[in-house]
Amino acid sequence: MPVSFSRLRIAGFKSFAEPTVVEIRGGLTGIVGPNGCGKSNVVDALRWAMGEGSARALRGSEMDDVIFAGTAARPSRNLAEVTLLLEEVQGAAPPPWHETPEIEVTRRIERGVGSHFRVNGREARARDVQNLFADLASGARASAIIGQGRITALVPARPEERRLILEEAAGITGLHARRHEAELKLRAAEANLGRAEDLKGQLEAQHEALKRQARQATRYRNLSGHVRTAEAELLAIGRARAGLARAAAAAALHAARTGAAEATTAATRATAAATAAAARVPPLRSAEAEARTVLERRRLGLEQLAAEAARAEAALREAAARVAQVERDQAHATQAATDARAATERLAAEAARLAAEDAAAPAAHAAAETEFRAAAEAASAAERAANVATERAAALG
Ligand code: ATP
Repeated sequence: MPVSFSRLRIAGFKSFAEPTVVEIRGGLTGIVGPNGCGKSNVVDALRWAMGEGSARALRGSEMDDVIFAGTAARPSRNLAEVTLLLEEVQGAAPPPWHETPEIEVTRRIERGVGSHFRVNGREARARDVQNLFADLASGARASAIIGQGRITALVPARPEERRLILEEAAGITGLHARRHEAELKLRAAEANLGRAEDLKGQLEAQHEALKRQARQATRYRNLSGHVRTAEAELLAIGRARAGLARAAAAAALHAARTGAAEATTAATRATAAATAAAARVPPLRSAEAEARTVLERRRLGLEQLAAEAARAEAALREAAARVAQVERDQAHATQAATDARAATERLAAEAARLAAEDAAAPAAHAAAETEFRAAAEAASAAERAANVATERAAALG
């Protein structure tokens, strides 16, 4: 049972701005229309959906040219989509569609983004779609689709091009396509192998470097172990020191708190004492003033006493001078008394002589008596003076 292309849905593709469904029924042999009405666009849509990758083959310069470009009456579109429905494909299509009775191939293009395929609603690669149609002995480049001028091109075709037609007729185009793909894959694999060889060389060099690094890492690990041990010990020491410091700090805190409490108590006491002292200050100030007064008085008294002492000393000096004078006077008086006694004795002798003469001369007697009395009075006065001087000397001594 041959595969049948049963429906073609075109939307936004070339001149088909609106979605258009072309039902391909048995007996359809051609599409007739005036030049430029869009007949070839239907075939282009068919080939595009089959995976045509050349914009030139679709009569454009780039693939976005297949999107409806707008007319004077209609704006352009940004999307184009062509869906082709194949029926009775079971057994003819390659896996994974070999058990599917019908296949719906959709190609959709967005302006500036590119196109992608879906087969029965699932994303598919362009290569898968091309292989599908190659296996079905059709496709965008298949001889089953003959475009304008293609017949004239076939006649003088080279043997290789003719061979393609024969292979298509034999149904092995898909195999060729796959062989080409396999060859591409093989070349890619060979290139990958070359790169893998290079990579292997690089990896071996890296392996050597890594072995060196591994040795260094082992050393590093050992040293790190030592460092960690040392750090742990250091931390333990630090911790112990911190514990000691903490205990010392706690003790210091306790002492400080005790000191603070004591200081507070002392401050309270001092405040009370200061208050009491402040209360005692006024009387003390009065006492001080009084003491100052007393002191001043005493100072004045002292000055007076000093003056009196100076005066007493002066008086003493004066008394001493007087004593000396009195002693001199006493010496004079003693001398005078001695002289007076001598004079008295002499006068007594004289009186006796005179008494004798008195008898002889009463006048001389009387004169002599007067002289005698005067001498006696002088002697008494001298004696009294001597007594006074003696008393004063005794009083001063
Ligand atoms: P002929 O018999 O001369 O080959 P035809 O009937 O096959 O003509 P087509 O070549 O399929 O006609 O269609 C040509 C028409 O499609 C032109 O009118 C052209 O303006 C229109 N057309 C082609 N590409 C686009 C596009 N991207 N957007 C809008 N219109 C387009």
